[in-house]
Amino acid sequence: MKRLIIVSNRLPFALDSAGEDLWTVTPAVGGLVSAVEPVLRERGGTWIGWPGIAGKIPQGPLAEATRDAGYNVVPVALSQTERDEFYYGYSNEVIWPLFHDLQNFCNFEPAYWQAYKQVNERYADAIVRNSRPDDFIWVHDYHLMYVAQALRERTRSQNLSALTFFLHIPFPPYDIFAKLPQQRRLLRALLQFDLLGFQTRRDERNFLQCVRRVMPDARVISRGDMDVIQFEQRKIRVGHFPIGIDFNSFEHDAKCEAVARRSQQLRASFPDCQLMLGSDRLDYSKGIPERLRAFRNALERYPDMRGRVVLIQIVVPSRVEIPRYHEFKGRIDRLVGDINGRFSTSTWIPVQYHFRSLDRIDLLAHYRACDIAFLTPLKDGMNLVAKEYCACRTSEDGALILSQFAGAAEQLKPDALLVNPYDVEQMADTVSIAFCMNQAHRSTRMKRMRRNVRTENVFWWVDSFLAAGSRLTTKVATQRRDIQRRTVRR
Ligand code: UDP
Repeated sequence: MKRLIIVSNRLPFALDSAGEDLWTVTPAVGGLVSAVEPVLRERGGTWIGWPGIAGKIPQGPLAEATRDAGYNVVPVALSQTERDEFYYGYSNEVIWPLFHDLQNFCNFEPAYWQAYKQVNERYADAIVRNSRPDDFIWVHDYHLMYVAQALRERTRSQNLSALTFFLHIPFPPYDIFAKLPQQRRLLRALLQFDLLGFQTRRDERNFLQCVRRVMPDARVISRGDMDVIQFEQRKIRVGHFPIGIDFNSFEHDAKCEAVARRSQQLRASFPDCQLMLGSDRLDYSKGIPERLRAFRNALERYPDMRGRVVLIQIVVPSRVEIPRYHEFKGRIDRLVGDINGRFSTSTWIPVQYHFRSLDRIDLLAHYRACDIAFLTPLKDGMNLVAKEYCACRTSEDGALILSQFAGAAEQLKPDALLVNPYDVEQMADTVSIAFCMNQAHRSTRMKRMRRNVRTENVFWWVDSFLAAGSRLTTKVATQRRDIQRRTVRR
């Protein structure tokens, strides 16, 4: 089995200064870490990433944080300017909005691209220093799309291991991607990987369409379950691998005593009401204002729901240092105020709004307590909340209203109630349909969604990606031999 090198923007924990010479270590939570860490421990390997603090990395606290990791941890240092221009700049003011189809939110500042390349080169240097030729290198997400190009510039191609990449966010259609000033350079950089994985068929199709339009030298060949791109004497394989969740751990924890108690408390606070849950990071791609407007529209047009439904909207603070996010929060605050001001009675407040992160018990209790999940991102790579909601519905009921533009819609589509997050009236109608749906109908749909989420879980995701990559390493070795033979003949 090959040694695994995971490369991601962030390490699976964050260091933070808590005063002079005092540091806190916060482990990262979420699907990627819980899926990849056990595999890394089992196969042996290395995790390369940024520990979350700008400037010099304190060696003592880092050693302390990684002592029991079970694998090597290689930190990549970023200066404050690099953090601003690479992370907040190119990654989050160019790629993030553009890849979520929100080109009006982009700031195509030329200096950002230089910083992006420079930081990606630093990650490539870390890979060169910490890998061997037969390692399996798995690079993650939109911050690091230039890493393979930087690596190939640093090593002779026959010494390279197979390089693989997974994009966690969507890939946009050509008409949107074409606005990117570095479109050719970025596609060329992506084509330096040997395997490219996307969340959905739609993202894979968009990527191939962009390659066909922007890179006339590349030839796309469709082959069974995977597409292949022939580019500069190399074959790049392209596939979609929808990320899943650790279903069993969510299901198990959702049944625990503390979650059950908290869930009952929640239900008891809103007697005779159906509870509807929205849970998102503070991000303009999540469609929170559109959802609130749809809820307001539903209360206007379906007066029977007044006093009988409560929307619990959790907004997890995120990237609040960026002014746009701050303004965006103001919009949400005002909409919540407007709805509650207009419709509240002495015994009922329609929107319960929390601007904070919930701990796991509280979050799972919300999943258990809420009859309907209302998740309407304008565009989303996957939307794990939708899958977590299904996993925690241990009573096998509950309705899921889901944006047709969330990656999860591709897997859950026959049973989730799909909506267009830009169509406020259609969303309002769908809220009314979910509100009136009988238990038998909800249960049939939920059982099928749970089956899907249980089967196509996060371990299935890791296995499918690694399996596609292992098939590749044999092919890369053959390709390498072919190139060597050609070179010898010449
Ligand atoms: N989440 C959390 N605390 C909260 C609300 C959400 O830890 O109070 C987690 C949730 O369990 C999920 C993640 O945040 O795993 C959100 O993932 P998703 O794919 O839905 O969206 P992203 O934030 O990655 O764009």
